[in-house]
Amino acid sequence: MKRRQFIKYLSILSMVSLSSFVADKKSKKKSKHRQFNSPNFKNGAFQNQIPTPQLTIEKNPFFAMMAFVFSKKERATPISLIPSVQTDLLQLNPSEDVMIWFGHSSYFFQIDGKRILVDPVFSGYGAPVSFMNKAFKGTSTYTAAMMPNIDLLLLTHDHYDHLDYDTMKKLRPRIGKIICGLGVGAHLEDWCFDATNIQELDWEETTQFGDWKLTATPARHFSGRGIQRNNTLWLSFVLATNKYKIFIGGDSGYGPHFANIGAAHGPFDLALLEQGQYNKRWCHIHMMPTEVMQAVKDLKVKRLFAGHNSKFKLSDHPWDEPMLKLAENCKIEGIQNLTPTIGELVYLGRSKQEFSEWWRGLN
Ligand SMILES: [Zn+2]
Repeated sequence: MKRRQFIKYLSILSMVSLSSFVADKKSKKKSKHRQFNSPNFKNGAFQNQIPTPQLTIEKNPFFAMMAFVFSKKERATPISLIPSVQTDLLQLNPSEDVMIWFGHSSYFFQIDGKRILVDPVFSGYGAPVSFMNKAFKGTSTYTAAMMPNIDLLLLTHDHYDHLDYDTMKKLRPRIGKIICGLGVGAHLEDWCFDATNIQELDWEETTQFGDWKLTATPARHFSGRGIQRNNTLWLSFVLATNKYKIFIGGDSGYGPHFANIGAAHGPFDLALLEQGQYNKRWCHIHMMPTEVMQAVKDLKVKRLFAGHNSKFKLSDHPWDEPMLKLAENCKIEGIQNLTPTIGELVYLGRSKQEFSEWWRGLN
């Protein structure tokens, strides 16, 4: 194996499941934040609600890394160009409530004329440095410069494929309020964001955004951009507007938190869940295909969109396997599975909207 390829895999693994060897040169966490008083912060780190080993097969990170490096990865990266629709976000009709997916876990919403971004990554890579973990061909058709003024930015956690320094730096003048997990605000302050615009939440904390209610809910995952792990909180969000209840799942393995969130906040008009970059080796921190279906039932979801796929390769499954399996499982279970291409408008007010299975026929 070539040295460069080895280093690349090392970096990818670090973001998914193993200790990172790449220090984040762009952010030094401050220690003054209130995460240390959280009931979820114990023994010097945030803890999941149930035991969550990051690795399930090899206990030694080095052996796990080697096993992954030499595992089969047929079609893990697409040869084909990933299709997209170029929607002008500056020209949207403010009276239409819409959602747009930008690939992987980045989303835009316009609801009641308010604009929301979730985990924006427009740099073309999901890594500490630009030559690692490059986005698939065709998935970088949207840039930070194309974004309108953003009223609310939601950050589910601080991993590189969700919190991107280059994107945040470019968006900074156009972002209003930012809501994120405990400790994540320290990255933003290091990047010269105004602390008064940042609100950090702990699990089960609720805040108002105008007449909307936003609750930070648990996820089963981990955090960190350098060697230090779990010093910032990972979370999901329940967004309750006057018209819709939306679950924004972030990254999460399966766990009892889904049923708890479903009981407390469900049913949901729309849920954004992760489906992709799964692997038996790290099945506690990312959901396997059958687990997503159980999460949908637990949450009581009317319409599902599953992301965390089609842009970055962080595991070894065929790139289109998440969509194929999800489409098949949703047909069996009778779940409305939304499959827009990157940039395609999803109308939140329409109970039925047809989408193509855009991945079919691509290699
Ligand atoms: Zn993550």
